[in-house]
Amino acid sequence: MTLSEMRRWLDSRGIQLTRSLGQNFLHDGNQLRRIAAAADCQPGDSLLEIGPGLGPLTELLIATGFPVLAVEKDQRLVEVLRERFATAANFTLLHDDALEWLKRGSHDWTGWKLVANLPYSVGSPILVELALGPCPPERLVATLQREVIQRIVASPGTEPYGLLSLLLQVRYEPAGTFGIPASCFFPPPDVESSCVTLRRRTPELLSAAELTCFVRVVKLGFSQRRKMMRKQLRAAWPEATLDAGLAAAGIASTARAEDVGLEAFVTLTRHLHAASPTSPPSGPSPV
Ligand code: SAM
Repeated sequence: MTLSEMRRWLDSRGIQLTRSLGQNFLHDGNQLRRIAAAADCQPGDSLLEIGPGLGPLTELLIATGFPVLAVEKDQRLVEVLRERFATAANFTLLHDDALEWLKRGSHDWTGWKLVANLPYSVGSPILVELALGPCPPERLVATLQREVIQRIVASPGTEPYGLLSLLLQVRYEPAGTFGIPASCFFPPPDVESSCVTLRRRTPELLSAAELTCFVRVVKLGFSQRRKMMRKQLRAAWPEATLDAGLAAAGIASTARAEDVGLEAFVTLTRHLHAASPTSPPSGPSPV
């Protein structure tokens, strides 16, 4: 879909773009092909696209022949998409707020891959919601503002490392990023963009119950990222349990969450969960 085709669709329907919905459409064919290729489609795959917009990526996904499910919030764009892809038998379109829709139901994403140029304002919570659900997608290929992608793939001890890095990396391994210049979008966004590929870890690092505990540990740990993590965790676990867990994970009692790596958080979680397996759940929430 070229820039002039995009303009034609918008002009013919009198559509004024809505900034709050992050409506920056990707018109660069090379970048669109790179995003679609990152899905590495295999027999049996199904593709989820959130925020299809006018459908420049959607058309490449439909062309793979795999089932494509797209969720778009803007009714005006839903009408364009219905017209553009009226004859595509492998395409299903939902008119909904994707974040609300994900939170409403319990979805089984086994065999699914997310491939999306996400709405930037809700991109992180959408990824977390997908990643921490009971049956998450095999792969997440997501375009977002560069600074958010840096947070997703960050390593301990670096500025962007934090809650978002851990909530996604606990189930997904970063498998590459590439930058997309602002000039590839219409209209060009004010921020730089990147695309990340996240591959689901198999086997899982933690059981479902342990994962709930992990979310609690990292949220508490990062509630005051510049302070010693032990102090925050003391509010939820007895000191003896906590100290045994920290020692087992090789975490100094003076450590700050921002210096603790995924593996250490996982070991700590296993110990804390084993010591109090019925601790109250804390599900995914926007980050
Ligand atoms: N995928 C298209 C592209 O690459 O050109 C459009 C991407 S644009 C960055 C984000 C799209 O997400 C817009 O079409 C916008 O209307 C839609 N959107 C915004 N918030 C949404 C939400 N909560 N749920 C579903 N779609 C949303």
